[in-house]
Amino acid sequence: MMQCKNHVERVAIERCTGCAEPFCGDCLVEMHGQKYCGSCKVMALKGGEPIVLEHRTRPSKEADEALKFALIGIFCFGFILEPVALIKAAEARKSIKMDPELTGAGKANAATVIAVVILTLWILGIVAKVSKAG
Ligand SMILES: [Zn+2]
Ligand SMILES: [Zn+2]
Repeated sequence: MMQCKNHVERVAIERCTGCAEPFCGDCLVEMHGQKYCGSCKVMALKGGEPIVLEHRTRPSKEADEALKFALIGIFCFGFILEPVALIKAAEARKSIKMDPELTGAGKANAATVIAVVILTLWILGIVAKVSKAG
């Protein structure tokens, strides 16, 4: 009984055409009628060329949160949530600048715009109430 090279707990069903190592069904991919493991598949696709990894990007968590707070702030607790959104958006922009793999600059900008607009509306609303009361 062969073990999958990637999964010790699994039984290998076949050997990879490229490296002849045993792999389970989840690890093997069929190409041109041959079974390949993950790394050999990429090699086969590129015609044996070394693999150039795609530039990996990941979304900025702060930008996501900034936009979330900004959007929720439109409906409730704007005077609390919009400043939080502004801070998070600023943090997001800073980390995006430092880490080119981070995405979400657009979200951070959107969050800033929304936060500023909603805060302005809140302030205007408070001013209107105060001046009415006065
Ligand atoms: Zn292989
Ligand atoms: Zn496996």
